[in-house]
Amino acid sequence: MRDMDRLIRCITSDGAVMAAAVDSTYMVAAAQQIHGTSPVATAALGRLLSGASLMGSMLKKQGASVTLKVNGGGPLGTVTAIADANGNCRGFVEHPEITLPLRADGKLDVGGAVGRRGLLGVIRDFGEGQPYTGQVELRSGEIAEDLTYYYAASEQIPSICALGVLVDKTDARRLLAGGMLVQVLPGASDEAVARLEKNAASLPPVTTMLAQGMTIEEMCARVLDGFPMEILDQCAVHYACNCSRERVERAFLTLPAAELLSLPDDTTGLAEARCQYCGRTYAFTRGELEALAKKVEANSKKSEKTC
Ligand SMILES: [Zn+2]
Repeated sequence: MRDMDRLIRCITSDGAVMAAAVDSTYMVAAAQQIHGTSPVATAALGRLLSGASLMGSMLKKQGASVTLKVNGGGPLGTVTAIADANGNCRGFVEHPEITLPLRADGKLDVGGAVGRRGLLGVIRDFGEGQPYTGQVELRSGEIAEDLTYYYAASEQIPSICALGVLVDKTDARRLLAGGMLVQVLPGASDEAVARLEKNAASLPPVTTMLAQGMTIEEMCARVLDGFPMEILDQCAVHYACNCSRERVERAFLTLPAAELLSLPDDTTGLAEARCQYCGRTYAFTRGELEALAKKVEANSKKSEKTC
């Protein structure tokens, strides 16, 4: 029994085209459970998580991360996904409870829920120096098309991005999710590009392929049909959060001391910080906050001296 998601990256033997595919079903189910997302919010967040996972796997540097932020002015508000260089990711949506009527074709109205007037922001952080940031206007709010446009407009990399989340109409907990990212590398011949375009034009939706029981290897082979190819790497991917009590403490230390002291609840004497990505809560007693407030004051005196 499979209980984890997988991601693979393939390259054609002539080095002209790279294709990555992910089965992100478990990751998206985890996000749905943590955030209590409605079907359309599950689809929007799930597509962005799948896209982030694929983009993360292209970073090739341990410790690096990619953050995708979509704000299209729709009722879902901002949708955020972060992935590490191994394709593990986490994310959240501002208004997870939003529901919209299905589109005329019976599909979830992701574009309507995300909105089409706004920006897709991409931040690549390699853990050294300034993170690389880019942004483009949204094309459709359907996410895959927006990521394809991002690569073309902001990075001049011709790409094909396909993302899909299928939520069962009778039982929303049953779902399928996955994605593919195909990139034409510098030096690719016109013939290779033409062949790839032909393959892409007949490629079924990702969730159709998953529902048919196709593996991610078979999905890559399908889009790279006619090209000799090899698998570059493959790995298990998870919904993963890197929050910790230490991180919350570090965030608290950026607050003014007076604000820290005002945090505890009057009756319980506790302050709770909830991670917006995984929902884990961290409780701090009044005494612990007083100790942190003292540190804040000590730090501010230190910085006064060095100024
Ligand atoms: Zn967390």
